[in-house]
Amino acid sequence: MNKNQKRERRLDEEYRANEREREKEKRKVRRLDPEYKLKEKELRIGRKYGRTLDECKKKFKEGNKAGPIYVCTSCHLLKFRKSVVELEKQRVLSSFIVNKYTTQKYSVDGKEWVCRMCFLYLRREKAPKYFGLKFPDKVDVLNLNRLEERCVATRIPFMFIYDATKGGQCKLRGSVANVPMDIQPIIKQLPHVPDESISIPLKFKRKQHYKTNEYFESIHPKKVIDAAKYLVKQPLYVKDGIELDNNINEQNFVDSDTDDEPDSSSSSDNESESDFSEVECELSKSGQQDTMVDDFNMDRFRPSGLTIAPGENEKPLSLFQTENEEYKAFPKIYCGQAMNYKEANVEQMSYGEQVKWELLNEDRRCAEHIPNIFYKTKKLQVKQVNSAGNIAVKKIFQDQKYTVSDFMKDDNTSPSIPIKNMDFGHKVFKDIRNSPPYLERVGKDIRAMIRQLGIPTWFVSLSANDLNWPELLIILGHL
Ligand SMILES: [Zn+2]
Repeated sequence: MNKNQKRERRLDEEYRANEREREKEKRKVRRLDPEYKLKEKELRIGRKYGRTLDECKKKFKEGNKAGPIYVCTSCHLLKFRKSVVELEKQRVLSSFIVNKYTTQKYSVDGKEWVCRMCFLYLRREKAPKYFGLKFPDKVDVLNLNRLEERCVATRIPFMFIYDATKGGQCKLRGSVANVPMDIQPIIKQLPHVPDESISIPLKFKRKQHYKTNEYFESIHPKKVIDAAKYLVKQPLYVKDGIELDNNINEQNFVDSDTDDEPDSSSSSDNESESDFSEVECELSKSGQQDTMVDDFNMDRFRPSGLTIAPGENEKPLSLFQTENEEYKAFPKIYCGQAMNYKEANVEQMSYGEQVKWELLNEDRRCAEHIPNIFYKTKKLQVKQVNSAGNIAVKKIFQDQKYTVSDFMKDDNTSPSIPIKNMDFGHKVFKDIRNSPPYLERVGKDIRAMIRQLGIPTWFVSLSANDLNWPELLIILGHL
């Protein structure tokens, strides 16, 4: 029997099935031999990772070249190639389910991809976990810089972010103080300018008499006023009853020291072209324009700009005061609206899952917003400690009830309060990195290892050196 005949015979479905069955039986017998089994395993690993070191390297580099650029059509998260499958090839899914729970989002190679997690949900004919979530629509008017955003937000998340000495990354020191603020006085203080390109330096302080600035940047007053006008119409602002003074449109707020001719600055709404140029001329002294052609002699005449401290007499609020604190602090991301986590989803989502969805989303607005990333980190940590604390309290107190005075009593005399003796208050922090209980646990692990395995000969500390990976830099450039 020649090759062609064999091939033809295999086209017959029944024959093929019989053949497969025979081969399966044969393999079963052969696998009883441990040597054969080992060889088979080696072959499998070789196929997956490469047979030689060079092949391994090549496979690894190729596998990681693309980065997470595949967008899941159902949850809109960015995924690596290995975590997605092509939607079109998934014959097990009914077309009804596919139409209902996918959004026709095409990404790499113009194909529709679905992540493995969503795929599992679709196969069970359920709504995928993150399906239906979306950020509020972006508007051009909210394209603000860091300080401009602070001027129109109703919460100031005070935090100390600084540049790390090596690597050019940012770090956070201490905690986040969430302070409410009123946007009206700031908007009132800003000079009313006709052009978006005119900017003024603004110092944003914790308290007026402090020497250090929380933020010091140039802002564009027109942009800020426009953003504020847009935001006061949004649900979160309307709910809090935040309004702008109606005559903000009519008034021209120009710095008093440059106000030589009050007649020109208090002109009415329908200014003519010539009036505009006059105002602009005056303001070019009080601020600076976004242009490279800048007369250096002008610096002498430039005032130091506005100084504001809107959170000065306000009491800080808890990060969990209301569920909208984060949305109020970052209007550039959330556009004055709350996220639709409750309405969109059947399953309840933890805050950690919400953070994951927002940061890994194909819409990069959260991932690009550095203060927001730190805010989320801190909020997650606080949540972690809170929930660990709650569990500890439940464990200890059971049915008994204690009051504060029980704890204030002199120690050692009240063994009835186990929280003091069991050290639960301390252990609450054991999952927080670099906290004393965390380091204590890690230290104990090492001591146990030494006891079991003896004193180590080498101590090797490895780091990824990821700043020098050209592949990573290319991936980051794409995202
Ligand atoms: Zn997905």
